[in-house]
Amino acid sequence: MSKPVASQMDGGMDADVLVVGLGAMGSMALWRLARRGATVIGFDRFEPPHAMGSSHGESRIIRTAYYEGPGYVPLVLEAFGLWRELEGESGASILTMTGALMIGDPTSDVVAGALASAKEHRLEHEVLDGAGVRRRFARHRLLDHEVAMYEAAAGFVRPEAGIAAALARARALGARTFTGQAVDRVEPVPGGVEVRAAGRTWRGRHAVVCAGAWNGAGLVAGLNVKLEVTRQCMVWFRPRTPALHAPNRAPVFVHDIGGSPALFGYGFPSVDGETVKIGVAAKTAPQDPEAIDRKIHPADLEAAAQYVRMALPDLDPTPVRAVVCLQENSPDRHFVIGPITPGITVLAGFSGHGFKFAPVIGDIAADLALQGMTTRSIAPFSPQRFAHKLHGSRA
Ligand SMILES: Cc1cc2nc3c(=O)[nH]c(=O)nc-3n(C[C@H](O)[C@H](O)[C@H](O)COP(=O)(O)OP(=O)(O)OC[C@H]3O[C@@H](n4cnc5c(N)ncnc54)[C@H](O)[C@@H]3O)c2cc1C
Repeated sequence: MSKPVASQMDGGMDADVLVVGLGAMGSMALWRLARRGATVIGFDRFEPPHAMGSSHGESRIIRTAYYEGPGYVPLVLEAFGLWRELEGESGASILTMTGALMIGDPTSDVVAGALASAKEHRLEHEVLDGAGVRRRFARHRLLDHEVAMYEAAAGFVRPEAGIAAALARARALGARTFTGQAVDRVEPVPGGVEVRAAGRTWRGRHAVVCAGAWNGAGLVAGLNVKLEVTRQCMVWFRPRTPALHAPNRAPVFVHDIGGSPALFGYGFPSVDGETVKIGVAAKTAPQDPEAIDRKIHPADLEAAAQYVRMALPDLDPTPVRAVVCLQENSPDRHFVIGPITPGITVLAGFSGHGFKFAPVIGDIAADLALQGMTTRSIAPFSPQRFAHKLHGSRA
């Protein structure tokens, strides 16, 4: 465990660090801060883990040969270790290794991007054609022109169990949490920061703002990034041959289906032994997180059912359940991590691929809050990278 920081509650401070939002990133930040001996208070408008934000629905993919960019690979390698550390401290089962298939045309973003990351970081992988995939992983059907990159260093994490474990560990280490209370405002003040929630003002030396889909809702001044929220659905189907979908036979997958706008199918092995979760990530219109329609409509199920008919014929294409989930996107779909003003760090814009990194992002937040710097390579995620674009768009 890292050396504890001195926690002098002089000057009317309530805590060293105030964490706003206790979902994926906030729960992990709270845990990593409490582990270092910082006094820390966390706030959430709901009772995490909950199904109102971006971190619910049984499973999240974790994979290493990262098609979104080789710069993510060192972070995900560290995240694997931290997930295991959280399991060790809490006794919870969070990470299951299954391997992963990145499927698509050889020139697709998913396949070409994953291979580029594998090459740059010398990651073990194999490239399989459609027949090779079918021989090894019988549930899949690829189109004639498609291939798949397989890597063993991948699997899924259980989001609800991960958040619950991090919060429980943080509380056991002395963190205080206030749930069911929305923070209204986070403001820098001389010598620290103030957080207003439920008619009370809290003072800390530093605040970590990680409110997910609500980051762009005016909680904090100085976050000059256009963050958008989209409504996504995850849909569960019943297999005809459950053994084909067991975690030891069915890797997680991402399938670049192509088209314009591009469609991505993704899926998991069966977590409950009875159903299989599939998603189709589509570009949808931005929405107000306060006004999201959380009901499931027949149209919400169509893309996933169509994907199942095309690519996973062992699944009965009649959906058995579905859930709405909010996705908070940054303009370039890369993360937004760093200070926006002295005393305030934001963790935002995780753009549909952040959960796997949550414990390492939480540890980076602890670095920034307690030391003002981190040794991890986070310059590409700087909130300031959009400043000139916002300025340009106004001109
Ligand atoms: C459908 C879907 C599938 C995904 N699949 C994957 C995947 O397979 N692998 C992967 O790595 N990532 C995946 N992601 C992305 C990942 O789930 C998110 O990047 C991650 O969960 C975001 O975490 P967060 O902490 O930013 O948000 P959240 O976990 O939503 O946390 C934000 C918290 O802030 C709280 N809050 C909001 N406003 C306030 C306020 N004013 N005061 C106090 N608290 C507040 C909320 O209640 C919430 O608890 C997926 C996302 C979606 C939508």
